[in-house]
Amino acid sequence: MKDMTFTLTDEQRALKGAVYELCKQYSPEYWRDLDAKREYPEAFVSELTKAGYLAALIPQDYGGAGLGMMEAAIILEEVNHSGGNAAACHAQMYIMGTVLRHGSEAQKKQYLPKIATGELRLQAFGVTEPNSGSDTTKLQTTAIKRGDRYVVNGQKIFISRVLQSDLMLLLARTTPVDQVKKKTDGLSVFLIDIRGLKGLEVRPLRMMMNHSTNALFFDGAEIPAESLIGQEGKGFSYILDGMNAERILVASDSLGDGRWFIEKAVAYASQRVIFGKPIGANQGVQFPIAKAHMAIEAADLMRTKAAKLFDTGQPCGPEANMAKYLAAEAAWEAGNACIDAHGGYGFAEEYDVERKFREARLYKTAPINNNLVMAYVGEHVLGMPRSY
Ligand SMILES: Cc1cc2nc3c(=O)[nH]c(=O)nc-3n(C[C@H](O)[C@H](O)[C@H](O)COP(=O)(O)OP(=O)(O)OC[C@H]3O[C@@H](n4cnc5c(N)ncnc54)[C@H](O)[C@@H]3O)c2cc1C
Repeated sequence: MKDMTFTLTDEQRALKGAVYELCKQYSPEYWRDLDAKREYPEAFVSELTKAGYLAALIPQDYGGAGLGMMEAAIILEEVNHSGGNAAACHAQMYIMGTVLRHGSEAQKKQYLPKIATGELRLQAFGVTEPNSGSDTTKLQTTAIKRGDRYVVNGQKIFISRVLQSDLMLLLARTTPVDQVKKKTDGLSVFLIDIRGLKGLEVRPLRMMMNHSTNALFFDGAEIPAESLIGQEGKGFSYILDGMNAERILVASDSLGDGRWFIEKAVAYASQRVIFGKPIGANQGVQFPIAKAHMAIEAADLMRTKAAKLFDTGQPCGPEANMAKYLAAEAAWEAGNACIDAHGGYGFAEEYDVERKFREARLYKTAPINNNLVMAYVGEHVLGMPRSY
């Protein structure tokens, strides 16, 4: 790791400020109201798209901003830092890498410029299944080639933003597991147009927070053969390729949540007077907030290191995974400190703490649970025996 600085450039600082300002126009009431109704933040996502922020990682040749992972991370962090929820739109950024690295020139020309303008939305990523969970290679959805089409059958669970997307990146098995040498072979990635796709049923799931997630049922859905990304059977490695980006970006969501909690807790603890003094003067209130702040700052360093390694084309698997773990845990610590500082008001909807608390909790579990991050560090970073 050479020539690495952890301070942001002037351009990155300007980007951070501009995204924050845009996001701040969407009030706490906006997010609270959508949360109560479990509705998608359509106006917010459209504005973020129009401003070009969601096309940060699309190269300029395809109409995007051609920025790096650090900039993408800053954008998502500021959405959550401002009080919003980047879960509505973060997937496009981490899905993008699979299309960019493994898609054909024709696919990139067909889709990327339209994704950049917002004419098409690619926010759905179909991996998880009820019977395989974290054990991705055991997934059971099949895509079988029939002439110029693939026929898809199977079920997916917790697939988010399907009803708000035009396109979905789908992982399915194209060769049965008993006919491949390695269980990671025989899985393929497809970029599919899901608008009115026959044979696909989408059942929304009401979750703990506003997340537009769904159960999917594929029953003989026919997709054009040219939906295949890269080589048939190599999809698992393409998805793995995208994992570092996903970890860095989700860590950034968590950092934004953490910063929101700390600012909210500091402001409240400094003005709420009980027993004749601000509650923040009590170490029992102040220290958990200070401790969580330190955890957020440390996680930020790891996230920034991972993003900078990524942007300079260096390996960053350990850093990306550690950043995801540290940031999710730090945000959770900050959320608890914030709710404790607020006393009963932490549970009142109008303070937004309980909403952010629910939203921040997700990242200890998804898109990969923190146990599996520890398993990765134990096995691949520290060289200990595989635990599962
Ligand atoms: C709101 C939400 C949105 C989501 N959006 C998407 C999406 O858009 N696309 C998509 O594909 N998926 C999505 N997911 C799925 C998410 O990625 C999975 O929930 C996650 O990967 C875990 O899979 P699982 O729920 O089946 O848990 P399981 O794999 O059944 O694991 C359950 C728990 O057991 C523990 N565990 C499992 N195996 C081990 C082990 N070997 N060692 C130690 N502990 C272990 C973990 O702590 C885990 O939390 C979403 C999930 C949620 C909740």
